[in-house]
Amino acid sequence: MNTSTIRYSLIKKIVNDIYVKLNITRFPINITEIISSFDNIRIVSYHQLMLKKNLTKEETFEFLSSEEGCTDYYKQKNKYIIYYNDIDYKSEERVRWTLAHELGHILCGHYCQKTKIFCEDLTEAEYKFKEAEANYFTGLLLSNPVILNKLNIKSSYDIEVYCALSSEAARYRYDNYKKWCKNKFITSSDRYIVRNFETYLKEQAQEYKEFIRFMNSF
Ligand SMILES: [Zn+2]
Repeated sequence: MNTSTIRYSLIKKIVNDIYVKLNITRFPINITEIISSFDNIRIVSYHQLMLKKNLTKEETFEFLSSEEGCTDYYKQKNKYIIYYNDIDYKSEERVRWTLAHELGHILCGHYCQKTKIFCEDLTEAEYKFKEAEANYFTGLLLSNPVILNKLNIKSSYDIEVYCALSSEAARYRYDNYKKWCKNKFITSSDRYIVRNFETYLKEQAQEYKEFIRFMNSF
């Protein structure tokens, strides 16, 4: 794998295929539903693992070696388990991002050579590259710019609310969205995705209109 350039168009294709195949029609994106559409991927919480393997909290963290979440790949069976931390408090928004990020690693083929937990024995460049690809995937999946554009996003807070992201993730996404706006490159599958969101977009526009009317009535 060439680790110098992020495969933007490949990742965009993977994300758009998910939107089309699963007929996604609204924000916020239901990430658990997306993951459960893959027969060979399971989501397991740290607490479930702790009970199953009879581990202490410390042993669980040692076994999983990540604060947020991670993935195990069983190469022979071509099966994945995504683990997420539910032991320490993590907001729903953060868990959503973590799950999507792990799915990104899987679908970008980052595990093909590995059988066990990712991230050790990688060079710094490889690690950064894989993280950047997984984050690019996550941003597109959870806050697709073609939909943000139709929602008339004006701030990172808008993204936070519509897409149910943490403020930190929403700020990062807003910066990316502003870059996207410079070209507004839209493909035919993007147009298909926007059509699927039509009812949702109308609902949002209506809600906004009612809100403005209400505010003006004072
Ligand atoms: Zn990662």
